[in-house]
Amino acid sequence: MTQTLSGTQTTSVADAVVVGAGFAGLYMLHLLRDKLKLKARVFESADGVGGTWYWNRYPGARCDIPSHHYSFSFSEELQQEWTWSEKYAAQPEILEYLEFVARKFDLNKDISFGTRVSSAHFNEAEQRWIITTDRGETVVARYFIPAVGTLSDANIPKFKGHGSFQGQVLFTGKWPKEGVNFAGKRVGIIGTGATAMQAIPVIAEQAAHLTVFQRTPNYGTPLRNEPMDPAVDREVKANYRTLRQQAWESFAGVPFERLKPSALADSPEERRKQYEACWEDGGFSLWIGCYGDTLFDHTANRYAADFVREKIRARVQDPAVAALLCPPESQAYGTKRQPCETHYFETFNRDNVRLVDIRTHPIDEILPTGLRTTGGEYTFDILIYATGFDAFTGAMFKMDIRGAGGRTLQDYWSAGPRTLYGLGAHGFPNMFFITGPQSPSVLFNMPLGIEMHCEWIADCITHMNAHGYTAISANTEDEDRWIRHTKELADATLLPEATSWYLGANIPGKPRVFMVYLGGGKHYKEVISRCAAEGYAGFTLTPSS
Ligand code: FAD
Ligand code: NAP
Repeated sequence: MTQTLSGTQTTSVADAVVVGAGFAGLYMLHLLRDKLKLKARVFESADGVGGTWYWNRYPGARCDIPSHHYSFSFSEELQQEWTWSEKYAAQPEILEYLEFVARKFDLNKDISFGTRVSSAHFNEAEQRWIITTDRGETVVARYFIPAVGTLSDANIPKFKGHGSFQGQVLFTGKWPKEGVNFAGKRVGIIGTGATAMQAIPVIAEQAAHLTVFQRTPNYGTPLRNEPMDPAVDREVKANYRTLRQQAWESFAGVPFERLKPSALADSPEERRKQYEACWEDGGFSLWIGCYGDTLFDHTANRYAADFVREKIRARVQDPAVAALLCPPESQAYGTKRQPCETHYFETFNRDNVRLVDIRTHPIDEILPTGLRTTGGEYTFDILIYATGFDAFTGAMFKMDIRGAGGRTLQDYWSAGPRTLYGLGAHGFPNMFFITGPQSPSVLFNMPLGIEMHCEWIADCITHMNAHGYTAISANTEDEDRWIRHTKELADATLLPEATSWYLGANIPGKPRVFMVYLGGGKHYKEVISRCAAEGYAGFTLTPSS
């Protein structure tokens, strides 16, 4: 029922409110509405579905785990109906896929597009969430599910002179729908992460000149995309169940056949052979599909790092530029998320591309005509920020979320995120996260991780309804236990050494806490399944009064 309170305000009631219409929001809506037969509303600030793939339309954007893996597994019919055109699908095709999913399951009718959720407050007396939007709508719902994405809130550094550039300013995570014409333009791009490494080679081919501002060099390795081989597609379609099973058996939700336990156990000749083979395979093969100790042991890591540096030097003609593009020995390989690239390093052999080291000479000021570093002034027509995301918490904190006792989520997470299994937080009853902090999240095949969480949440709600519970909230001591365990696992690896977004280290002032669960998706799934089987052990369920 919808009641009009005033000319512009409406209040309605739903069983659940979901925020976001990316992979997570779409599947959550499908389960809530079509499996659980609940009334679910979805709010999405964009004017279409797709999430990441709606916003990140920059040139070169594509997934870097194979398309057959980077897709929903919940519907065999969907798996059979959809055909990927490339081994690693590009952004337009992934967006088309998600639009297809939304049409196939008739999801759009329950999504309010162009609508941002501004606040969600838990009403303890009613045991319900009061959710408001920037369009003046209020929805009262039992369940609040922010599927707002872990990498959806752009990090835009506010350099001195921010906003003064008079040319076109672009953010990779909010790329204009109509595209950008780079012909004849001088372009500057800040950042050399996974996004920039995809965009730079494509922009360099189109623009008159490209200046790349690099603070930290990155260990990129070749993606090796190719058109989808119809025989491979047929083979996968005939064996999708096995493929998904193999994905679940693997650490990161993508199987790697070459993986060996330790780089230390091999002779230098065997190691070189193994590295070369993984290099030729492309994608994440060298990073997580080569040796099991690459991210655990300094010596094993150095072997891989030396190998990648050697490859970079071989690909870049000017030794001085190559030296700048090589991550230093102090920066372990793969402790920042490994970018997969296509001709990135060769791009610096072009006459129209210049690399500027902003580690030695930081950006001093954005100017109307370009920018100034402490080493010089640069002029261009277009300035691109490829500066990443305020991961995990950014989009959550953009909403005013208040749990029991009016406590804000910002306050509860002031020393870093606190969750049980990355699914719920103490004092925020009936609020569920999808691929939240302290779950395998961004170090797992995300569509599969999203399915796992959506299904856990749907089962939990079914359990609550069946047993007459009105609220579920994580226990503090179980959160403590899980956070300790997540930290112990991370500390056993080299990952916390990096200044990465996994730790929040890319955002000034953000607490440095490793936010990803590194026990692997398979083990994690066992943990949360056991929790459910034991009546949601670690959570407190409140019976209806
Ligand atoms: P998102 O897709 O981020 O969707 C969240 C949605 O919530 C957005 O549409 C946003 O507009 C909306 N939203 C947020 N706040 C509000 C609000 N207050 N009100 C209303 N709406 C709101 N993962 C992989 O596993 N493999 C890959 O190869 C891979 N490639 C990637 C490439 C790029 C360029 C990026 C940025 C990420 C990539 N990822 C990859 C991670 C990717 O984010 C996930 O795979 C997946 O798309 C996340 O889906 P989601 O639905 O959880 O979140
Ligand atoms: P990112 O990895 O955080 O990279 C941001 C870049 O901007 C870094 O080079 C960073 O330098 C630079 N930067 C940020 N703030 C700066 C400042 N104040 N001054 C100078 N430089 C600054 O972000 P991203 O490239 O968008 O990637 C984020 C994640 O999205 C990836 O790790 C991945 O998970 C996902 N992604 C995946 C793909 C894919 O291939 N499928 C593609 C794109 C993104 P520093 O390193 O020095 O901080």
